[in-house]
Amino acid sequence: MDCLFCKIIKREVPADVVYEDQNFVAFNDINPKAPLHILIVPKKHISSIDSLEDQEKELIGELFLTAKKIAKEQGVSSKDGRGYKLMFNVGKEGGQIIDHLHLHLLGKWNNDK
Ligand code: AMP
Ligand code: ZN
Repeated sequence: MDCLFCKIIKREVPADVVYEDQNFVAFNDINPKAPLHILIVPKKHISSIDSLEDQEKELIGELFLTAKKIAKEQGVSSKDGRGYKLMFNVGKEGGQIIDHLHLHLLGKWNNDK
């Protein structure tokens, strides 16, 4: 399958990886739309939110817990007085250009802190 994010996961294409565990890889977006812009990607190839199956419930739950963990590591946890945005683009009209499910984590607009 010719999928860019699968290639990044397999390290066939370089990326600035900031986090990895058994189920997810997270890396800095190559064209950041915020001072902090990380993509959190399940290692399993799922095309989009619209392709999710019931059996992926647990994985998607873990995706949010992983986002929370990475936010903490990156110093943007709301518990530390900061905050961030989480976003999925879904399909062409939703602005999705890479057909491998990924959660955008954006933040650090207030860079003076
Ligand atoms: P989306 O529009 O939700 O499909 O988001 C895809 C994101 O992937 C965009 O924000 C791109 O800037 C980003 N992107 C594309 N190619 C790469 C790459 N090689 N490494 C890191 N991020 C990438
Ligand atoms: Zn893929």
